[in-house]
Amino acid sequence: MTIKPDSGPSGTTAAVPAVLLAHHLKQLKLPTVLREHEKVAREAARDGVDHVRYLLRLVELELLDRERRVTERRIREARFPAVKSFDTFDFAAIPNLNKMLVLELARCEYVARRENVIALGNSGTGKTHAALALGLAACQRGFSTLFVTAHALSSQLMEARDEKRLLKLQARLQNVKLLIVDELGYVPLSQVGAELLFEVFSQRYERGAIIVTSNLPFEEWPSVFRSQRLTGALLDRLTHHVHILEMNGESYRLKQSTRRRRAVGAEQSKTTGAEQDAIAAAAQDHPAAPNNQSP
Ligand code: ADP
Ligand code: MG
Repeated sequence: MTIKPDSGPSGTTAAVPAVLLAHHLKQLKLPTVLREHEKVAREAARDGVDHVRYLLRLVELELLDRERRVTERRIREARFPAVKSFDTFDFAAIPNLNKMLVLELARCEYVARRENVIALGNSGTGKTHAALALGLAACQRGFSTLFVTAHALSSQLMEARDEKRLLKLQARLQNVKLLIVDELGYVPLSQVGAELLFEVFSQRYERGAIIVTSNLPFEEWPSVFRSQRLTGALLDRLTHHVHILEMNGESYRLKQSTRRRRAVGAEQSKTTGAEQDAIAAAAQDHPAAPNNQSP
């Protein structure tokens, strides 16, 4: 099973199957088998493992690697502005948030059921972080995902319409298993942008899951969509199968920066105190220090 080192004419002949094997494995797109077969063969020989187990081990390695590669590709294609997970999410910082519900959502059954999630709350409370973490969980569980801000999405839709490729973009937006629309309400949409966004939500109704984050309560959504009627129709669809994440609270950013400022302040006053002590000590040691600035 191991390949003899290339030595002389017989070695050259022995290398031919190895070259052919590498070629075939590349063609079959089995990069892990190609990379690992010699090492696993040495281990198999050492442990007295039979051919079937040897092959099984190699195939398992290929499968694991393939799953990892596919997940990585899914994460890249989701276009997350940053990769964040619930591992770094501090639930204690936002006591209003239903942790049990969030952890349940992280299992992604709502994606399979084509339900929606709406995270509502003031700025800096972790809505985008939670949406990114849910998106990452979806990618890891095999669901194609796309992350986009409401403003960017409406611009992309308008651009696509102008360039006569709206249907193509709409099809792409419909095909992902999870669409994440972040920051609805931060920037008012144009009339056309609002209508096109409405169409996306409407086309996905009961066909694919959506996560929306917004700093605005539902009552204020008409100001984003510029129409009471459109907003009513939209909310009707969006909230039919929905999990609401209440995320009002103290801004995490603000809290962090206040804490940092306080820490810096304490450090400064400590320094000032130390400096004052040093000055006092120096004054005591040299009660009549000469004035160096004398002319
Ligand atoms: P929002 O989208 O609600 O305005 P973000 O999700 O952008 O807020 O949060 C602002 C910053 O604070 C981000 O860097 C985010 O990772 C962090 N953050 C917010 N809430 C939490 C939290 N509960 N635990 C850890 N980090 C948080
Ligand atoms: Mg945000």
